[in-house]
Amino acid sequence: GGKEQVLLAEGIRSTITLLNHKIKSKHIDLSILIPDDLPVVCGWPGELNQVWTNLIDNAIDALPDGGKIEISSQPDRRSDGSEFVLTTITDNGTGIPEDIQDKIFEPFFTTKEIGKGTGLGLDIVKGIVDHHNGSIKLKSVPGHTAFSICLPTQ
Ligand code: ADP
Ligand code: MG
Repeated sequence: GGKEQVLLAEGIRSTITLLNHKIKSKHIDLSILIPDDLPVVCGWPGELNQVWTNLIDNAIDALPDGGKIEISSQPDRRSDGSEFVLTTITDNGTGIPEDIQDKIFEPFFTTKEIGKGTGLGLDIVKGIVDHHNGSIKLKSVPGHTAFSICLPTQ
């Protein structure tokens, strides 16, 4: 189907509902900072829900019991006038070692035990972000990881 106007807050909330058991059982402290007047994104809601699911799922896996996740979105505008929504998912978990930061987006790359990770999550995320003409950036040091996803509003 064609692109739709997507409310990110709705997609992120329904993703959290799906992951609620895992979030609660690990006592994750989750905060969501999304303004009510955030512009809609232009895209495919099911695909974008897969992005939030994969990123939040990875964050939970990287956290100790009682760890924190923060999800925030804000509007963004480039010098050429084009508008975007920038969403950042931050966790205070293990962090991603510098020497693997360029490998984690490759298909089948995983540091998880056999049966616990396919290594496909971030490959799928990257494909979906590309499909939306968006971009994704990673910043990670020990104890802090942030994935920022920039998505066009049209
Ligand atoms: P999988 O989750 O199946 O391992 P992904 O493609 O989702 O595959 O992630 C690849 C790897 O990237 C993970 O195995 C992990 O090493 C690393 N990773 C991704 N997100 C995080 C995060 N928030 N904190 C620490 N490591 C992460
Ligand atoms: Mg994953």
